[in-house]
Amino acid sequence: MTQSYEIIDHEFDVVVVGAGGAGLRAGFGCAEKGLRTAFISKVFPTRSHTVAAQGGISAALGNMGDGDDWRFHMYDTIKGSDWLADQDAVEYLCKEAIPAIIELEHYGVPFSRTAEGKIYQRAFGGMTTNYGKGTAQRTCAAADRTGHAILHTLYTQSLKHKAEFFIEYFALDLIMGEDGECLGVMAWDLDTGTLHRFRGHQTILATGGYGRAYFSCTSAHICTGDGGAMALRAGLPLQDMEFTQFHPTGIYGAGCLITEGVRGEGGYLTNSEGERFMERYAPSAKDLASRDVVSRSMTIEIREGRGVGPKKDHIHLNLMHLDPDIIGERLPGIAESARIFAGVDVTKEPIPVLPTVHYNMGGIQTNYKTEVINPTKKDPNKAVPGLMAIGEAGCVSVHGANRLGSNSLLDLVVFGRAAAIHCAETITPGATHKSLKGGDDGTKAIERLDHYRHAKGKTSTSALREKMQRVMQDHAAVFRTGDTLDAGVKAIDKCFKEKKDIGISDRSMIFNTDLVEALELDNLMSQAVVSMHSAANRKESRGAHAREDFPDRNDKTWMKHTVTWIDDKGKIKIDYRPVIMETLTDDIETIPPKKRVY
Ligand SMILES: Cc1cc2nc3c(=O)[nH]c(=O)nc-3n(C[C@H](O)[C@H](O)[C@H](O)COP(=O)(O)OP(=O)(O)OC[C@H]3O[C@@H](n4cnc5c(N)ncnc54)[C@H](O)[C@@H]3O)c2cc1C
Repeated sequence: MTQSYEIIDHEFDVVVVGAGGAGLRAGFGCAEKGLRTAFISKVFPTRSHTVAAQGGISAALGNMGDGDDWRFHMYDTIKGSDWLADQDAVEYLCKEAIPAIIELEHYGVPFSRTAEGKIYQRAFGGMTTNYGKGTAQRTCAAADRTGHAILHTLYTQSLKHKAEFFIEYFALDLIMGEDGECLGVMAWDLDTGTLHRFRGHQTILATGGYGRAYFSCTSAHICTGDGGAMALRAGLPLQDMEFTQFHPTGIYGAGCLITEGVRGEGGYLTNSEGERFMERYAPSAKDLASRDVVSRSMTIEIREGRGVGPKKDHIHLNLMHLDPDIIGERLPGIAESARIFAGVDVTKEPIPVLPTVHYNMGGIQTNYKTEVINPTKKDPNKAVPGLMAIGEAGCVSVHGANRLGSNSLLDLVVFGRAAAIHCAETITPGATHKSLKGGDDGTKAIERLDHYRHAKGKTSTSALREKMQRVMQDHAAVFRTGDTLDAGVKAIDKCFKEKKDIGISDRSMIFNTDLVEALELDNLMSQAVVSMHSAANRKESRGAHAREDFPDRNDKTWMKHTVTWIDDKGKIKIDYRPVIMETLTDDIETIPPKKRVY
């Protein structure tokens, strides 16, 4: 029986779960517009994974190179997505990028500068001018610590506008009303051990990705997809979960990221024969082809025996030819990471690298206003009242089957801003909250917490987590086949069942990390299962989903988004919805599908 817990109540206009780049941009935008805004974050805001973003944030400012246009950016993003992104949302992203970056500059982001004092912009994978003909310099950078610069600036803006922070509060579950609307969220204050009920006219999920479902990833240990799991438990589906991005250059062994900005500044990959092999796979873009293409090429080189090292199981990234002053000025962070995690002096030796899980293209389905969608037969575009999702947790679908580097930070600020605009347009500040009678009042969240708190099974959280991570790593990899995916489905379903046998040893409520990890594993698990099933079901190759048994993209059958539900027993339901091909305005026409070559 569930123990009784005291609940502390809070009322706000907007409750933002997550204080990374997306959450902060949305929340301070709401506060700026006079809405009473709360941030709930399981870590101190500036420790969110956004802080680790290195290479930069894209926008067609045209400060460097041969000029730029947001239409070129849109073309690149659609092509990069392998025609799975929604064209209305991508138009919004690329057009709004320009004012959103200027705004960031005015808020105080310390961007690197050109000699004339403009924002410095570097080349990045898949970013071109003139619809694929030239190389764009589109990625605005603050050295190789762009995420750090942006996150700290957004945090200070949030303080300035007097948003309220609930730090080291772990959000447990959404509170869903009797008509399927979201009324707020339940959270556990790790520091005092108390439980809190937050009411909001809008609850914005900005909880980041679920990279930790895999064994080797570039994302922080806190990236456990808690928001996605809350949506699933509320009976909502997740979209396009089969598309996981492998970044070509994670440090071999450690998994830490070496930014694509290294290749943007002239770095290149070589195999055991010292060959610049990307010239064979992507004759024009070479090392700056998009990430899925480079990761696959590296995997093929290793498979065919041309990997480097004693086990011939990785690749070299060379930047010895770059001017040490340029490295010191524009890439200081990665020089340090390479020294610490690979023992390499980048001015003298290559960095050992391997494709490493980096980003989740899938997430909570939203429209371009960032309202969460709960599709029904009658209304496939039905929005869930009171619930929004942004950032890596969301899937507004601007990245489709493969995200271009530097488009995620952009997604955070553009759609964070869109969320704030939508809240300001729809919420009356201080309006009375709907009664909780009839729906859930937070009891379900407490029951789940209490279940894990007193769990006495024989399986440790860490053992089951590693099992799940290895299944994902082995079966939902860079290359996939029907056999590996079917075996993956069986193995991951088995892991899901083993959740029942979890046991934890700490029963306290104060900073119980044992319990936090069990809740996080539960969150990761549902998304691992959804991802594996979605992947097994998609019988084509598109973007990051590369099937050896179906090597071609099949637009006739598969140009559609996967929408997947899971129930509490682990039963999966899969449906599909069409890709939005119509653009938002007449400023640009639909970019028609064609073969994707770099
Ligand atoms: C190493 C690395 C480098 C990258 N470099 C770039 C780059 O150069 N350019 C680019 O465009 N993209 C880059 N990316 C991708 C990009 O940084 C991320 O996709 C993005 O920062 C995610 O931001 P977010 O705001 O959605 O989530 P996050 O920054 O991950 O923040 C999530 C927030 O949610 C909170 N939270 C989560 N669960 C809970 C819970 N249960 N209760 C309370 N709070 C919770 C956390 O405390 C945190 O505040 C990089 C990613 C990595 C891992």
